[in-house]
Amino acid sequence: MTFKALGIIEPILKSLQAEGYENPTPIQEKSIPILMRGKDLLACAQTGTGKTAAFAIPILHHLYNQGPQNRAERKIKALIITPTRELAIQVAESFTVYGRFTKLRTTVIFGGVKQGPQTQALNRGVDILVATPGRLLDLIDQGYINLSHIEYFVLDEADHMLDMGFIHTIRKIITLLPKKRQSLFFSATMPPAIVKLSGKILGDPEEVVVKPEQKTAERVEQAVYFVHKKDKVKLLIHLLDTKNADSTLVFSRTKHGANKIVKLLQRANISSEAIHGNKTQAARQKALGNFKSGDTAVLVATDIAARGIDVEELALVVNYNLPNVPETYVHRIGRTGRASASGIALSFCDEEERAYLKSIQKLTGQRIPIIKDHPFPDDGAGEFTQTSQSRNPPKSPTANRNKNRRYPPRGRS
Ligand code: AMP
Repeated sequence: MTFKALGIIEPILKSLQAEGYENPTPIQEKSIPILMRGKDLLACAQTGTGKTAAFAIPILHHLYNQGPQNRAERKIKALIITPTRELAIQVAESFTVYGRFTKLRTTVIFGGVKQGPQTQALNRGVDILVATPGRLLDLIDQGYINLSHIEYFVLDEADHMLDMGFIHTIRKIITLLPKKRQSLFFSATMPPAIVKLSGKILGDPEEVVVKPEQKTAERVEQAVYFVHKKDKVKLLIHLLDTKNADSTLVFSRTKHGANKIVKLLQRANISSEAIHGNKTQAARQKALGNFKSGDTAVLVATDIAARGIDVEELALVVNYNLPNVPETYVHRIGRTGRASASGIALSFCDEEERAYLKSIQKLTGQRIPIIKDHPFPDDGAGEFTQTSQSRNPPKSPTANRNKNRRYPPRGRS
């Protein structure tokens, strides 16, 4: 299947080609034909599957086919709501990239920053608006945004939206949308509250499910290190010293933990920054920018802050703490090994985290290879190290990779 076979207009095909996308991903192959027919869509898919392009391409296609808008007539025709600022920025960037030969205009709005530049952009005229819920409602209340011309409405990462307590805001926004519209609903999981919310938004939707968990986990080279809690930083520094990874994303369970890891890495002369909910939006964006440009080698993030981080060529993910929700593990390691690349995910497992490791292995149906040969082994790892794999320990998954990659120079922290 090719993008051309999906009937997409030439200007979008051109930008996809420029991006190096050769074929649609499964979610794109399933969703784009439904959306091209104008149907509502309920999609069960998470980040890393190519879901953004799955909704952005048909929306751009339809809007382009409506013909050019003069400045005075430009009305917001498409609204995409995302739970986090990072994801909103990412989604808006995708619209801009895929639509760069269409002359359609995209703007993004989110809280935590001054509203002036955002309202100025809105006043200049916008076709596609990407927004987080709070700032959207705020600017609607202030009269900067009118939703009465919306033809395409997307609720992205609906389950996270609910987790973050946006349900009332979303309900209110829905009441302001025109009845006649095409609605798209994306969620990685479908618990009852989500199904109920989708019923309020969607008409008679077609459903698409892609199961990225196993696929992602299969593509990523994984390994686990049994290590005492107190030795984790030393092990991390050791791995960063020996792995030659260009960009490493480290997951910490807590904000405090993330700050502490950064402090110790910096003390070891490793350039690193933390992003989490206690940082200002400006600080988070700056840290992300430094990481993307390669100025910062290691980004230490909490799960919520890491949502929406999309770094091409992310070489290594380190689970400094194993998550207690196994799906979170799959989500984290999906940060590396994106749509076309493969990646490496290394996990640290201390005494208290062994049950989490079991749940993860159950979910993915995979046994994660154990690396016993490291300077800070936890010899009490018991049943896990009695496996056949540990009797014949696997070679470090990074052993043959990144041979030509140089770890960014030290001392830039
Ligand atoms: P998403 O799930 O929307 O966050 O997308 C995950 C990543 O896949 C992004 O980096 C996209 O740029 C990339 N991507 C999306 N569609 C394709 C495609 N058809 N071929 C290659 N990469 C893609």
